[in-house]
Amino acid sequence: MSTRPPVRDRGPAIVFEQVTKRYDGVSAVDALSMSIDAGTFVALVGTSGSGKSTLMRMINRLDQPDQGCVRLDGCDVQQEDVIKLRRSIGYVFQNVGLFPHMTIAENIAIPRRIAGAEPVDIGAALERVGLPADFAGRLPAQLSGGQQQRVGIARALAGQASYLLMDEPFGALDPVTRDQLGHTCRRLHDELGLTTILVTHDMAEALLLADRVIVLARGRIVGDATPREMLAGKVGTEADAMMAVPRAQAARLAELGG
Ligand code: ADP
Ligand code: MG
Repeated sequence: MSTRPPVRDRGPAIVFEQVTKRYDGVSAVDALSMSIDAGTFVALVGTSGSGKSTLMRMINRLDQPDQGCVRLDGCDVQQEDVIKLRRSIGYVFQNVGLFPHMTIAENIAIPRRIAGAEPVDIGAALERVGLPADFAGRLPAQLSGGQQQRVGIARALAGQASYLLMDEPFGALDPVTRDQLGHTCRRLHDELGLTTILVTHDMAEALLLADRVIVLARGRIVGDATPREMLAGKVGTEADAMMAVPRAQAARLAELGG
């Protein structure tokens, strides 16, 4: 459970206004509205197919709403210059997507190079995510899965991103590595004053890392609460059902421990 001090109020940073996205006539995101304050760490949870990735993709315009509007810092993302928009967003995917033939340094530098932005301080970028500077010359295959994902995070944050969007970034990793990476993300979020959305299907991870947990089902929000409220069962039945597994596990572990 979160024991962090409350986030300073910096106003809405990510706003969805009645956003609908359909595929083949079926709504993946259904008239969804939400407002996320700057500086908030949100965990977005929901079963497979509930619309999490579609929601995320509409923020950096990999997808376009059929109806409604997504705003970043008050501006409709559809009206923004797409390069400028994506430069403000660090995006981390589940399959890290490093270029296998490029060194770690080149992988971190490439989005900035394409955007014509200033070069990245690779040493600082690596240090930020807890990797040694001499990894710069290695190839992705010479790193573990967790280390590769750290490079993915370093790359996402190499520019001046003020948003960090992560779509199931730890899905393929073992629980220990996953836990360490989660803490790294939370630390970077706090240090850099980011606004973060982490998509995860792991409710325990969501409760431990986030300031706010949003539960999605069928493209709609069925729960929106702080971890403390979630644990106290102060959400709707459907969202509370997602708490059943972590609650049962906690109870069983407590029992085992006597
Ligand atoms: P999640 O990330 O929560 O698993 P998605 O946003 O990927 O959910 O998908 C939500 C729904 O939209 C699913 O029913 C999925 O099949 C559908 N969908 C997502 N992307 C596409 C696409 N490019 N083409 C057709 N259907 C899609
Ligand atoms: Mg997804």
